[in-house]
Amino acid sequence: MNKLVDFAGALRVGFSVYSLGSGSSGNSTLISAGHTRILIDVGISVLQLQKRLSKYRVRLDDLDGIFLTHEHGDHARSAYALSKRFGIPIIANPATLTVLSRESAPPNWYVLDTGCCMSLRDIVVESFPVSHDAVDPVGYNVYYGSWKVSFVTDTGVAGDEILRSVEGANLTIIEANHDVDRLLSGPYPPLLKRRILSDRGHLSNEAAADLAVSSLAKGSKMSCIWLAHLSKTNNTPRMARRYVQHRLSKAGFQNVVVGVALPDAPNLTWRPPSRPCRLHVPESKGLLDLPEDVVELFD
Ligand SMILES: [Zn+2]
Ligand SMILES: [Zn+2]
Repeated sequence: MNKLVDFAGALRVGFSVYSLGSGSSGNSTLISAGHTRILIDVGISVLQLQKRLSKYRVRLDDLDGIFLTHEHGDHARSAYALSKRFGIPIIANPATLTVLSRESAPPNWYVLDTGCCMSLRDIVVESFPVSHDAVDPVGYNVYYGSWKVSFVTDTGVAGDEILRSVEGANLTIIEANHDVDRLLSGPYPPLLKRRILSDRGHLSNEAAADLAVSSLAKGSKMSCIWLAHLSKTNNTPRMARRYVQHRLSKAGFQNVVVGVALPDAPNLTWRPPSRPCRLHVPESKGLLDLPEDVVELFD
C-alpha cells in the first residue's frame, strides 16, 4: 500500500549550503538545514566569521556545532576561541582533537570517530577518511531528508573509497587546488611542490575532474559541483572551472553546474528545489524518488 509523503513542511524550513571562504587563507562552509546550523571547518577569524555569517542573518549563538576536517590552521584557526568564548560544540575525531588541545584543554569538544555518523538535531553527519599530511584528516557527508552534500578537500588522492563515500550526493564540494603545470613551473620551493603533489597533499584540477566524472559515470545524481581550496599562486577560478567543465562536457555531463568557491568572502549558495513535493512512496521501502535538484548558484 502506498503512503502519501508531504515534503512541504521539510522544504519550508529549508536546506542551504553557503561557502563562507575557501583556500589557504581560511575555509568555512555554513549548512542551514531545518532548525539546525553547522559549520564545516572554521579557519577564519571570529570577527570575519561573524561578519560573513551576518550576510545570511546567522549569529554565532545560532550555531549547533562545528565539524573539523583536520587540524591545519586554515581549517581550525578559531575552533578553540569559539568553543571557549561562545560555548559552540567542536566535533572532530580523537587524533585531531588531541593535537588541537595540546596546549589547553578545550571546554566543549565532542568526538566523531572517522567513518562514523552523528545525528545532530535535523541532520546526520558522516565522516570518511581522506589522504592528507594531518593526523587523521576526513571528508564529510551531510544528510538532511533525502538530500546529501559531500565535502572532499585537503586530500592528495581521491580513490575508490572516497568515490564510494560521495555516491548519491546532490552537491559535492571537491578540492581543485592547483594546475599541475603551473605548480611545477611556479615559484614554490621544490620541497613544497613535492608535498602538494604527494598522495598526502592536495588535489589538482585534473584529479578533481577525475573524481567528478567517475562519480557521474557510476550513476551519481550530482547536479552541482563546487571547486574549492584553490591556490592563489598555482590556479585561477577561470582555469579550474574551464578545465572541469571541459572534462564534464567531454564525458557527456554538460548539465552539471560548476561553481568555484572563492577565498576571503562568501560567494556560493546551493539549495534543493523550493517547491513542495508530494510523493507516493511504497510503504515497504523508505526510499524517495525525488525530482532533479534545482540549483541556485551565485558566483
Ligand atoms: Zn590541510
Ligand atoms: Zn587546507
